Amino acid sequence: MNKFEQLGLSESLLRAIIDLGFENPTEVQEKAIPLLLEQDTDLVALAQTGTGKTAAFGFPVIQKIDANNRNTQALILSPTRELCLQITNEIKNYSKYEKGINVVAVYGGASITDQARDIKRGAQVIVATPGRMQDMINRGLVNISQINYCILDEADEMLNMGFYEDIVNILSTTPDEKNTWLFSATMPAEVSRIAKQFMHNPIEITVGAKNSGSATVSHEFYLVNARDRYEALKRLADANPDIFSVVFCRTKRDTQQVAEKLIEDGYNAAALHGDLSQAQRDSVMKSFRGRQIQMLVATDVAARGIDVDNITHVVNYQLPDEIETYNHRSGRTGRAGKLGTSIVIVTKSEIRKISAIERIIKQKFEEKTIPSGIEICEIQLLHLANKIKDTEVDHEIDNYLPAINSVLEGLSKEELIKKMVSVEFNRFINYYKKTRDLSSQSSGSERRDDRDGAPRESNNGGAVRYFVNIGSRDNFDWMSLKDYLKETLDLGRDDVFKVDVKEGFSFFNTDPEHSDKVMEVLNNVQLEGRRINVEISKNDGGGRRDHNGRSSGGGFSGGRSSGGGGFRGERSSAPRSGGFGPRTERSSAPREGGFGGRSESRSSSAAPRREGGFSERAPRRSESSSDTPRERRPRKS
Ligand code: AMP
Repeated sequence: MNKFEQLGLSESLLRAIIDLGFENPTEVQEKAIPLLLEQDTDLVALAQTGTGKTAAFGFPVIQKIDANNRNTQALILSPTRELCLQITNEIKNYSKYEKGINVVAVYGGASITDQARDIKRGAQVIVATPGRMQDMINRGLVNISQINYCILDEADEMLNMGFYEDIVNILSTTPDEKNTWLFSATMPAEVSRIAKQFMHNPIEITVGAKNSGSATVSHEFYLVNARDRYEALKRLADANPDIFSVVFCRTKRDTQQVAEKLIEDGYNAAALHGDLSQAQRDSVMKSFRGRQIQMLVATDVAARGIDVDNITHVVNYQLPDEIETYNHRSGRTGRAGKLGTSIVIVTKSEIRKISAIERIIKQKFEEKTIPSGIEICEIQLLHLANKIKDTEVDHEIDNYLPAINSVLEGLSKEELIKKMVSVEFNRFINYYKKTRDLSSQSSGSERRDDRDGAPRESNNGGAVRYFVNIGSRDNFDWMSLKDYLKETLDLGRDDVFKVDVKEGFSFFNTDPEHSDKVMEVLNNVQLEGRRINVEISKNDGGGRRDHNGRSSGGGFSGGRSSGGGGFRGERSSAPRSGGFGPRTERSSAPREGGFGGRSESRSSSAAPRREGGFSERAPRRSESSSDTPRERRPRKS
């Protein structure tokens, strides 16, 4: 007799269990199933996700309901649509040998009419998300006044997501005599409050945190070219509009730089590193906890001891020097039974570290590709639609409705929806439709090899053209800049070409195989204490060799305006204020990021948003440009 047979389960359930391949009950099943089968009791079970709790309540509920009665007898509330569907599926699997049991999933984002029709046909078990359930109750589409069992799954998560009132309202429409089984990973005050208010002498069981810590974190890596690291980060943020993350960089300088770029590009980001004063760090952490910051860019040392729950993603912008440190980083997410994702943005030369980390964490990474522009647009569009749906209406607006109505008169509902969505979305799609695929080539077995010898991807199969923020103001001419680049990058005589020096910035080309090196090395070099900033330009600058250095083939079309940048079409990186996410330009607390995690507010003095892909961007340099020409030799820092 296996252990399931000792729990008092029916023959049909035991048959289903064999089909499922479950050999022995898990701890929560062993504790809960006999108890719930034998007694009509309320239950509080403290159990993490992944401990087998669906079966712990699913088996008893199936065994206890009356299949001959078509009334709804059990309601299972779960926090998310995914979990709702998952539970429904599991219950269907468990009850496959029971005749006449119908389970219906009720969740937002799908037709309420279809769900109501399915319920009308007779659903003894309803698995629902609180929001949609409340909606159905309000519309009289469901009757839960006769239920015998109410199960609150992942109660802490439901309350975390703001469903307290829905849950209270739903429970208030259920009979007092029912049994309530509450499953939760943690017991915060709100969960206790629900338990006190709606449960009668519940029996409590606690199971060991079988699935705590690392098992709640999934690990992903994205293989990109070094030059695309930052762009990849932005896309990952855009593909996760509700991201709440810690982004790890290796050095204080990179941390500061990445945070600055993100802020420039309009994300709710901030840096956390040891060069900040304690007061600055406290202030950053306060904003992070308050979720005004969605991307906290941090060094390992500074991030030590960050005890913020609900971090959705840890992003390894660069892998740590010591791969053991990876564990500390990824442990910032997946806390308190929450699921989290640890992302690594990795280049070909570092790919072997992934296997080493897998050995340490005893978990496999999933290789993923950076989402395409279209994918991001789809995600953002749905996010926007949901945001519109969930937006609470401030009735102050009622006063303006007559005027608004007269403006919008004549538009059909469909037209109106399209236009409303387009207000936000056009900027987004305009940017992303121009972007290229960022993923570096890799395939399963190859990915762990040292692929350094492999030819690198390039923008256009030809040369790679770069923009660099040093020029004639720094006492370079094309020849001295070429020499400087060759020396700094340790490249051969003909490896740097088409050097085009302007006053505050320059362009140059290399063959694609040098681009990783150019990006990594040059972005870590200082010139007279000033950071060098190099970026890939979209234009390859024309043909392969032209050493006169005076080529205008770089596509320079804007004419440099002093201090104002004014180059167009020369860079492939994302727009900052111009693209789709207005940058943060105020000192007050930012509102929740609207689109792609960007903050919505700008100071009234800020320039109007620019449309389209490229921004006019000032080369990064100190603006003390009244400098007289200086005699100085460029040097490596
Ligand atoms: P849950 O905590 O209910 O989400 O379950 C986590 C996973 O464990 C699901 O994929 C279940 O199908 C599986 N599972 C549940 N109970 C058992 C068991 N007794 N033996 C093996 N797998 C199980």
